[in-house]
Amino acid sequence: MAFTSPKTLLRRLGLRPRKAWGQHFLLYPHQARRIVAALDLHGEETVVEIGPGLGALTVFLAQEAAKVVALERDPALARFLEEELFLENPRVRILCRDALAFDFRECSQNSTQPLTLAGNLPYQITSPLLFKLVEAKAAVGQAVFMVQEEVGDRLMSPPGTKDYGVLSVLMQYHFALERIFSLSPANFYPAPQVDSVVLRLTPRQTAPPANDEALLSRVVKAAFAHRRKTMNNTLVSRAADFGLTPDKLRAIFTALEIDPGRRGETLSVAQFVALSNAIEEGQLK
Ligand code: SAH
Repeated sequence: MAFTSPKTLLRRLGLRPRKAWGQHFLLYPHQARRIVAALDLHGEETVVEIGPGLGALTVFLAQEAAKVVALERDPALARFLEEELFLENPRVRILCRDALAFDFRECSQNSTQPLTLAGNLPYQITSPLLFKLVEAKAAVGQAVFMVQEEVGDRLMSPPGTKDYGVLSVLMQYHFALERIFSLSPANFYPAPQVDSVVLRLTPRQTAPPANDEALLSRVVKAAFAHRRKTMNNTLVSRAADFGLTPDKLRAIFTALEIDPGRRGETLSVAQFVALSNAIEEGQLK
């Protein structure tokens, strides 16, 4: 199949790239191929693609996997993909949907294997989608996403840095994160303002695990709720939110040898897990 540039294709379809939906289309098929190659595909997988756009990644995904379910919010693009590009390709199913409203767990129940996720993510939905991914972790086998480089840095940053936040802790807890390669704005039409990075995310079981992962999320979110405040002011003063008295929570900090006068952003992932587990045990007493 001959490759048509996004600019030409959009003109033919009478469309303009929509900023509000983060539309930045990959210009070069070899870059699309590199992104797809970052997934471990053996022709048996079901891939859910987020934001197929004009199908740059979809074409290669359909060559490597058994089935591609592509979620595209823009009706005009979804129509082009369904009625033209993949009209005769039974492996590709185009759904005109908001990926944030999609039930990944339900989709995985129709498949014998955990889902593979892929996408050049629209930047507006990156954070909420990653939170959704955390919730759907059990249904997911692997994911490769292109995100803004700054977001990639944030996800992978260590404790004590200004980039370290709720998503860094939760993503590092739930997934092994690997940086595959970066792409400059010149690889997209229209060119975005910033560099992009391709990340591979593999679900993992962190040891020791959090006994209650929902509680871990709540503890981390509370610790980061006010970045300049110490944990005395974010967690201890809100101990009741966790079913504890401030004294009890202070005792937990002492037992873990963590000074609650520190800011939440200085805690390692393992310390957040320990804190969450101790809070859970404290609730039971
Ligand atoms: N994968 C293509 C397009 C990436 S641009 C490529 O690499 O060339 C991001 C795409 O996500 C756009 O097609 C945009 O319409 C779509 N999109 C934006 N918000 C979305 C949402 N909430 N759910 C699904 N798709 C969305």
